Amino acid sequence: MAARQTQNYLRSLFEARGIAPRRSLGQNFLVDLNIHDAIVKTAEVAQGDVILEIGPGTGALTALMASRGATVIAVEIDRAMVQLATEAVADYPNARVIEADALKNKNTLNPEVLEAVRSAVATAHARSFKLVANLPYQVATPIISNLLVHPELCPSLMVVTIQREVADRLCAGPGSRAYGAVSVVASALAEVSIARALPPSVFWPRPKVDSAVVVVRPDAARRARIGDVAWFHSIVRRMFLHRRKAIRLVLQGMWSDRWTKREVDAWLEGRGLAGQLRPEALDAEEFADLAQALKAEPRLAASAPAESGAGALVEAEDAGALLEAEDDGD
Ligand code: SAM
Repeated sequence: MAARQTQNYLRSLFEARGIAPRRSLGQNFLVDLNIHDAIVKTAEVAQGDVILEIGPGTGALTALMASRGATVIAVEIDRAMVQLATEAVADYPNARVIEADALKNKNTLNPEVLEAVRSAVATAHARSFKLVANLPYQVATPIISNLLVHPELCPSLMVVTIQREVADRLCAGPGSRAYGAVSVVASALAEVSIARALPPSVFWPRPKVDSAVVVVRPDAARRARIGDVAWFHSIVRRMFLHRRKAIRLVLQGMWSDRWTKREVDAWLEGRGLAGQLRPEALDAEEFADLAQALKAEPRLAASAPAESGAGALVEAEDAGALLEAEDDGD
């Protein structure tokens, strides 16, 4: 069983191995011993669960979850941490540490990771698949959103430690500055709540920002209501590239070769939607209706909306960059 990681424990472990925390990889380790326990309790980690942990670091949370009998797949990018995490779970055949980047690129999960989960779910006859992690902050949003929209491997529960600003984005509603594409997708597909606020002092080294433990509980009924989740996701993301532009202009620009502004106006009017509304004013229900109507529109024949600018990568950026990208104000 891994040692309970305190700041002193980590300092001497790192010194002995000649390593130092890497800020570029979001290496802020949880050193408040109660929080790993609270995360495991909130996630109700138990035998029969397949748990994906992105960023096990030294493996403290990994070993704790493995000790509860869950099958744990821990994906770590940093070789030094892979070594430590592997040692931490040496006594647990039900835990596996994979050295990999959790993301293939900024918008796609690493297929090797998905395959490892798929095979664990099949062989463990899993009761449920969960994401439980103290996530590296710079990739938290794409990991959560890509898993949430995944057609086959959407977890039944996610309990994750993330930057407070990203947590607020996940929970935000229309009218709030934090509201964005990820807020819409999260509320359209899941129930999201902040289980606990975390000050910088519970981590070593201390991050400059506050954090939170967030619970994302995907909801089958909401998912069924959305229908084509990939289409919905793509529409929401494209529209939020121009969050302050009138939706009539956004929609015309997305399919500029398919319809004129006048035709878009008539189409919106036929659906009782005011063309002057901005994407940032629409709630998840309205986006769901809009996406379905766009999909059914013969002129568009479900053709992918035009990509514009940096937007395709918007979900991969950190919270600050995300805000800028979504805030083009045109
Ligand atoms: N789980 C540990 C804890 O709770 O103390 C460490 C969490 S630390 C916030 C994030 C971990 O994610 C680091 O160990 C870092 O090396 C790893 N990491 C960063 N980017 C990653 C990526 N793209 N894929 C997999 N692991 C990554």
